[in-house]
Amino acid sequence: MPELPEVETSVRGISPYLVGKTIKEIIIRRKQLRWLVSDELSEMQNALITVISRRAKYLIIHTTKGEIIIHLGMSGSLSILEKETKDVGKHDHIDLITQDGIVLRYNDPRRFGAWLWADNISQMPIFQKLGLEPLSAEFNGDYLYKKSRNRKVAVKKFIMDNTVVVGVGNIYACESLFLAKILPERLVCTLTEEQSHLLVTIIKQVLAKAIEQGGTTLKDFVQPDGKPGYFAQVLQVYGRKGEECHQCKNQIKTKIIGQRNTFYCDECQK
Ligand SMILES: [Zn+2]
Repeated sequence: MPELPEVETSVRGISPYLVGKTIKEIIIRRKQLRWLVSDELSEMQNALITVISRRAKYLIIHTTKGEIIIHLGMSGSLSILEKETKDVGKHDHIDLITQDGIVLRYNDPRRFGAWLWADNISQMPIFQKLGLEPLSAEFNGDYLYKKSRNRKVAVKKFIMDNTVVVGVGNIYACESLFLAKILPERLVCTLTEEQSHLLVTIIKQVLAKAIEQGGTTLKDFVQPDGKPGYFAQVLQVYGRKGEECHQCKNQIKTKIIGQRNTFYCDECQK
């Protein structure tokens, strides 16, 4: 599933091809994604693309005719084709074509993604309850510490709560808690001030590293098969059930927390 770093990589990958360009048309081959694709998208002719940004896991194409909001869902991906083509795959549901012939193609086998239109994203319900961006200065140790007082919820569930901080997916939550030496099921209200600072610093490092690694795959955006490289990271605990902990040789354990499979080392994490 595309996580925040992949979405950020997508923003950086497609921006050089699209910003400053004028839309010729948006071809919608399939309207039934997670939500129905907005009708307004077929009326975007002559809109100028001014900037492309990200909020949580939404990619936002800002234009002179409103904003296009894209979510990659479970299996969505964006690719750039340097010229128009009649060669269309089964899961290539949407093409955004610029006047100079660049194609932004959306592929999504499981169709849990979204393409929506808005004239003002801040008014959209999906954006109103979102917590802080994890890489922003506002998300810091003081914020986590203060926000978690009296909260009797597992620390892992808390950092994956989108109303607290957005985009800390399951892999990144497991890895960050391991590196901060904090047990995922520990109640967040028991974290010390020092641990809150450490955990936030590590979350930022883990996400930044993933984005940096994604940067090395940017060339993949223009490969004919179009899949951006979702990058394999060196993982400490995630996906390693029963294997040896790299730190202490203890077996990595799993447990369901907040309906998500959670990987940890009960020797290293307290
Ligand atoms: Zn260990």
